[in-house]
Amino acid sequence: MKLIKLPILLMTFVFAAQIQAQTKYTSVPPEESPMPMKPEMTEIWEPEVEVVTPAKKLGDAPSDAIILFDGSTLDQWVSQKDPSKPAPWKIVDNDHMEVVPGSGGISTKMKFGDCQLHVEFSAPDKVESESQGRGNSGVFLQNRYELQVLDSYNNRTYRNGQAGSIYKDHAPLVNAMRGPLEWNTYDVIYRAPRFKENGEIDTKATITVLHNGVLVQNNVAINGTTFYIGLHNYPEAHGDDVISLQDHGNKTQFRNIWLRKL
Ligand code: MG
Repeated sequence: MKLIKLPILLMTFVFAAQIQAQTKYTSVPPEESPMPMKPEMTEIWEPEVEVVTPAKKLGDAPSDAIILFDGSTLDQWVSQKDPSKPAPWKIVDNDHMEVVPGSGGISTKMKFGDCQLHVEFSAPDKVESESQGRGNSGVFLQNRYELQVLDSYNNRTYRNGQAGSIYKDHAPLVNAMRGPLEWNTYDVIYRAPRFKENGEIDTKATITVLHNGVLVQNNVAINGTTFYIGLHNYPEAHGDDVISLQDHGNKTQFRNIWLRKL
């Protein structure tokens, strides 16, 4: 008796769940609408969408961006090793900054969470070394999660460590690197990780990256703090934090860095 009843009970349950799903997420209009629909019934007017003036040139900062570096000053940056000290890198031709090898990374003064970030970088003009030794630097979101900067033009290395990779986490979809005398752009859409009250990870960070306008990371989940050795994880909960640029011993250059908080 019980054996016959169980399938019926299960079917009833599945049927009820289906009906509930249909009422929740209708993919077709109901046969009988409670009232005749008019165009304006699906128009939302308030609040009006905020106006942002885009830059004249694509890639330049729009009106609501925070300018982190425009070529003239490192005022928005400090030494990563000792944030009480100024950023130890040099400005070249009032146009770009260049890593001073051995001086350590630099970090923004301001802290960020979710953001849209634009960074331009160029590999050192003189091509030296190979693999990870060529034009290595990195953009560390929230001081933890590295979007790799490398001269990946005619330079083979491990795929999850080349330019456009989330270092040792996600290889880029393609290699869109320009030659060492040219400038590259990164356009990043970043969502910070969310943590539970007990400090465990709730929702991983996600990132989308365009390298020279080419999609290289498509809303991937970042699996944790970037480590050189070992699997990545989220060792501790954190809030907004600084963005850092890495000194990996190469004279990598940066310019036109701006950010929009999301
Ligand atoms: Mg790096």
